[in-house]
Amino acid sequence: MNIIIFGPPGAGKGTQAKNLVKKLNSFQISTGDMLREEIKKDTDIGKKIVNNMNNGKFVDDDIVNKLLEKIVSDDTKKNRLIFDGYPRTINQAKNLEKLLNSSNQKVDFVFFLNVNKDAIIKRIEKRKILEKRSDDDFKTILKRYDAYMEVTKPVLKYYSKKNNFHEVDGSMEIMNISQKIEEILNV
Ligand code: AMP
Repeated sequence: MNIIIFGPPGAGKGTQAKNLVKKLNSFQISTGDMLREEIKKDTDIGKKIVNNMNNGKFVDDDIVNKLLEKIVSDDTKKNRLIFDGYPRTINQAKNLEKLLNSSNQKVDFVFFLNVNKDAIIKRIEKRKILEKRSDDDFKTILKRYDAYMEVTKPVLKYYSKKNNFHEVDGSMEIMNISQKIEEILNV
């Protein structure tokens, strides 16, 4: 199964993706983690994206799409991909479909973790203390939320019309969210 965990920043996508990785013996594809790694290693890509990342802006589709190519076509990971934080734009959604198609795969489930802005702000504040992420200051949080509303909402609309789309109340306790997702997946 290939699964997309979708939702605003701070909705708990990473936590639920990690749970599914354990449960399904699959692989978490977090573009956020991949991009942070590029910055940490100070690669050419890292140098290009550091400003956008620190300002809560999206990284260019071309860069993110390119990072995905190898992973999606990797036979050892085939049909065991859990996408966390990708796709975030219609361009990325179409790119993912294309990449999956070309290796005879598809998106099997899309889970939208729905959480309101106030709850997200509180959660990200907490995570800022726990993980010391430089893009988690208050102003950046609001920018990231706004970027989500502006660019990612159309992606939500795009997926919500499909019959593999499931909305889950992301304000529930972590365990209850996991349970709900597992129920739908029947695992
Ligand atoms: P995340 O860890 O998913 O919250 O992502 C952190 C930051 O990485 C975002 O605020 C963006 O700057 C960048 N980023 C992660 N994934 C993407 C993506 N699919 N498209 C564009 N930018 C992304």
